[in-house]
Amino acid sequence: MDSTKKGFNTICTHWGQLEDSQFNGAISPIYLSTSYAFEEVETKRYPRYFNTPNQEALSKKIARLENGENALIFGSGMAAISTTLLAFLQKGDHIILQQTLYGGTANLVKKEFHRYGIEYTFVNVDHIDLFEKEIRPNTKVIYIETPSNPLLTITDITAVTSIAKKHRITTMIDNTFASPVNQTPIDLGVDIVIHSATKYLGGHSDILAGAVVSTKENINTIFQLGINLGGSLSDFTVWMLERSIKTLGLRVKQQNKNAKQVAKWLHKNEDVKTIYYPGLKTHPNHHIAKKQMKGYGGMVSFELQNYICPALFQKNLQLIKSSMSLAGVESTILSPAVTSHALLSPEERLQQGITDNLLRLSIGIENKKDIIADIQQAINETKKELVKTKKISE
Ligand SMILES: *Cc1c(COP(=O)(O)O)cnc(C)c1O
Repeated sequence: MDSTKKGFNTICTHWGQLEDSQFNGAISPIYLSTSYAFEEVETKRYPRYFNTPNQEALSKKIARLENGENALIFGSGMAAISTTLLAFLQKGDHIILQQTLYGGTANLVKKEFHRYGIEYTFVNVDHIDLFEKEIRPNTKVIYIETPSNPLLTITDITAVTSIAKKHRITTMIDNTFASPVNQTPIDLGVDIVIHSATKYLGGHSDILAGAVVSTKENINTIFQLGINLGGSLSDFTVWMLERSIKTLGLRVKQQNKNAKQVAKWLHKNEDVKTIYYPGLKTHPNHHIAKKQMKGYGGMVSFELQNYICPALFQKNLQLIKSSMSLAGVESTILSPAVTSHALLSPEERLQQGITDNLLRLSIGIENKKDIIADIQQAINETKKELVKTKKISE
């Protein structure tokens, strides 16, 4: 299939699919072999080498969705992130990262990089010129994440890539929150795109996986380290991920729509103190999000007024479950301070703007009126309990 003329959903459905030449089945067959007879040209197929039939088919699909040349599929988002970072950094090198990052990524850099002699600087994305000011002669990589987890900060991608290109520095982006439905950073000059496929690419809360997309050359660099670190994904999960991506466009479009409505509703609600959603005009970098995103995503973070206990509010939700992770078809909620960003110290969290009251809502594909009704009844219930314990007066 010539994918250049095809739409996003058509590519999701058909691209990189394995033919079932034996029975003409509609879906990709799954090949679980860890041992393959040598072909004439000696291709050594082995799951850890990222080159089983299913791994290669899925790589093709994800690379095409991100407008890259090639991709590698990993056993987790962190396997993809750590392998990619270490493939481009060595002793004596320096990396600039944005301050608001996924907790695991920030933790990897702060807790492990000193062991490898890699220097790092974190910068505030609201001062984009800092990315240039902090460049040192040994700076090799600039790493961004937009929208970021959990505060949905927006980084101006083209501003960063033009600085990096001027100084011949490799750029990497964690595109997990946007997904290729909403944002294709390679089109904006980013060199390497990373995903926790556990999130939107998987989308059903049943897959742990990661992916990296870039040029053939960069992917080969990551591959060389990747086979030594051994973080590839098993073919069962590869197959599930390929199946899941067929509905990626449909799922995320619905999540975009729902999230925008929920964000608008929260914004108007007087029991809500602060709301973070790049699709709202009140978001400080809405104009940048509008420029670089096709949709604003399914993640909404907010703080309730101080008189509503966030833990109690979470308990009172019925449809929306409190749970780890995000981006499933079902709506979920968590408190970043005690989950996704618990590994950071309270000071580090506050530096990023993550308070103990912050809640991160992952909007699913349910009907938006049901999501809103659940939040409303949980607010009402929590207020009632507070009145009972005389914490607020009616
Ligand atoms: C979850 C997440 C990761 C880590 O992915 P895993 O699949 O859990 O290893 C990285 N970046 C972002 C933005 C995430 O949300």
